[in-house]
Amino acid sequence: MTEFTQDHDYSFMRLALEEAKKAKERDEVPVGAVVVHAKTGEVVMRASNRSIELKDPTAHAEILAIRQTCQLLGQQRIPEYNLYVTLEPCAMCSGAISFARLHRVVFGAYDVKGGAVFHGPEFFEQPTCHHHPEIIGGILEEECGALLRNFFALKRKMKKDRKKSTYTD
Ligand SMILES: [Zn+2]
Repeated sequence: MTEFTQDHDYSFMRLALEEAKKAKERDEVPVGAVVVHAKTGEVVMRASNRSIELKDPTAHAEILAIRQTCQLLGQQRIPEYNLYVTLEPCAMCSGAISFARLHRVVFGAYDVKGGAVFHGPEFFEQPTCHHHPEIIGGILEEECGALLRNFFALKRKMKKDRKKSTYTD
C-alpha cells in the first residue's frame, strides 16, 4: 500500500493552489481544494470557492469538493479519500469533513480569524465530533497565505479608492 505523505502533499497542494487562483480570477476569496484517493493518488475532484457566484454562503471550496466527490461516487461517505485545501477549514467545513469521514486532511495557511481546526472551536477536539481524520497544516503555507493576503489588500485598496473618488466628485 502506498501512503501519500509529505512529498505528495506538496504536489497536491499545488493543485489546490491552482484552484484557489481560479477563484481569485472570478473575484471570489481565493481558496481551492482537491480530493485525492488515499492509496492511488488519483485526483478525483477539484473545486474552489463560489460563494458569490452561487449566492451561497456554504459554497466553500471544501464543501463543493466533498459534495461533488460524493455525487460522483454515489456515496454519502468517502473514507478512502484525502482532502487538500489551501486554507485551514472553518467550522462548517470541518463539520462536513467529519461527516464525510475523510481519511486525511492537509491544509495550507493557518486561519487565526476563521479557522476551526487549530483555532476557534477546534472542532475535531470536541467530544461531539465523531470522526477525527489525520490533519496536517502549513503545507505551502506562505504561498497559500500570500494569495489571500494580496486578495484582501487589493479589495481594501479598491474600497479606499472608491471612497476617495466619491469625495472628489
Ligand atoms: Zn469553510
